[in-house]
Formats: sequence, C-alpha cells, structure tokens
Amino acid sequence: MQIRCYRCGWSFAINREEAAFALEALEETDGTHYDSSCPRCRHSNRISLEQLRKAAPRSADEPSSDERQVAEEVATGEGAEPEAADENVGDGSDESEPEK
Ligand SMILES: [Zn+2]
Repeated sequence: MQIRCYRCGWSFAINREEAAFALEALEETDGTHYDSSCPRCRHSNRISLEQLRKAAPRSADEPSSDERQVAEEVATGEGAEPEAADENVGDGSDESEPEK
C-alpha cells in the first residue's frame, strides 16, 4: 500500500507482510492505528486499522482471493453463524467459537 507522509509529502510503500504484522499487533493491543516512520524525514505517520485491513488480507497465503477475504470478514466481524464459520477458519484461534 502507498503511504504519503503528511509532513513532507513523500510517498512510500508498506508491503503486505508489514501491514499484516502491524494489523496483528494492533488487534492484540486494541490499537486504533499503526505508526509508520517516513523513510525521508522519519516523521511518524498514522495508518488506520481500516487501511491496514485493505492492505493485508487475513489469509496471507492466498492474497488474490477477494471472496475469501469478505467471507472471513463476515465470519469474524458479525458473528452471525459461528457454526458455519468453523469449517472455514479451523485455525483454533477464533474467539467467536465458544469452548466447552
Ligand atoms: Zn516525511
């Protein structure tokens, strides 16, 4: 994803791995944004969770699958049908699935 430094106007890129890493860290800490330093002036630019989610699909092994990204967004975000979501997720880390 492209970031534009709001201080000096320099455009720089954040790759998918960095975005995914930042997203994980934010979700663990309930953060609302990620600070990325501008490579030119080293000013911290705030990147919102929403921007990171667009840049980092949850299933990192299949970044081209838009449908899967949407499906997981619904499964984890809405929690409408946790039983159906169980088949798709299956990584054991989904908190929406109640344990015995
Ligand atoms: Zn800058």
